[in-house]
Amino acid sequence: MKLIDVSVPLDAKLASYPGNTPVELEPIKRLARGDSSNVSTLRMSVHGGTHVDAPRHFFDAGGDAAGLSLDLLCGRARVIELTSRGPIAADDLARFDLTEDVRLLIKTHNSRLWGDPSFHPDYVGVGESAAKHLVDRGVKVVGVDYLSVEAFKTPGAPAHHILLGAGTIVIEGLNLRDVEPGVYEMYCLPLRLVGSDGAPARVVLRQS
Ligand SMILES: [Zn+2]
Repeated sequence: MKLIDVSVPLDAKLASYPGNTPVELEPIKRLARGDSSNVSTLRMSVHGGTHVDAPRHFFDAGGDAAGLSLDLLCGRARVIELTSRGPIAADDLARFDLTEDVRLLIKTHNSRLWGDPSFHPDYVGVGESAAKHLVDRGVKVVGVDYLSVEAFKTPGAPAHHILLGAGTIVIEGLNLRDVEPGVYEMYCLPLRLVGSDGAPARVVLRQS
C-alpha cells in the first residue's frame, strides 16, 4: 500500500501567491532559551501551499472550509496530464472521457515549478471553457498543480466562479511531478477551519 504524498512542504522555500501571507514558523518557546519545551506559532495564508478552496472564497454566502464534504474529498481520483502551456481550454479536455470521474487532478508543467521560491505568474491555469466543461461532465473535485486554478490575473476569475458556484471543490497547490496519469485513491483532508474561505490540506494518493 504505497502512498504518494502530493502535498508540498510548508517551508521558507515555498512560493507564495502575490499578496498572500507567506509561511512562517515563529518560535514562541525554545528549549535552547531555557523554556520547558519548543512551541511555535504558524502564520500563513489559508491559500498557501497545498490547500482547498471553499465556496466562500468567491461567494460571501458560500460554505466555509469546515463544511467541505470529506466524502467528496476522499475517494477514486483520476490524474490526467496536459502539455499545454496556456490556460487549459475545453478542447484540451475533450479527448478524455470524464463521465466516471468525480475527482480529477490535472498534472501540467506547473509541477516542475515547486522548489523554486519565486512565484511564476506564467503557470498553467484552467480557462473558462474548461471550467464549464468540467462542471458539465459532473466533476465534483478539481485539483491543480500550482497556487491557483485561475490563470494569473484573469479578469472576473471565471474558473473560480464557475467551479465553486457549481459546488465543485477546488484543490490547489498539488505536486504531481512524480505521479503517473491514472486512477488512484485520494485522501484530501483540509484543516477544519470554521468560517474560512480555504484551508491547507494534506493530500495523498494510493495506487488503486
Ligand atoms: Zn485557493
